[in-house]
Amino acid sequence: MRVRVDREKCCGAGQCVLAAPGVFDQSDEEGIVVLLDPTPPAGAHAAVRDAAAFCPAGVIAFEEA
Ligand code: SF4
Repeated sequence: MRVRVDREKCCGAGQCVLAAPGVFDQSDEEGIVVLLDPTPPAGAHAAVRDAAAFCPAGVIAFEEA
């Protein structure tokens, strides 16, 4: 799996961090998403799918490898 985020569109809702804390974080200053792991391990894939579904701004995209 390869994950991408569009930080321009992120509104800092934080749903991604709640769903997949090992893959996403939020910057301290603006709360914008930070992608910690663009190629997460298999055990995190379901959480990434959840994060993409929950993100209200449609920021998270992924390709299944
Ligand atoms: S859930 Fe979406 S809008 Fe909210 S912080 Fe994460 S990437 Fe940004």
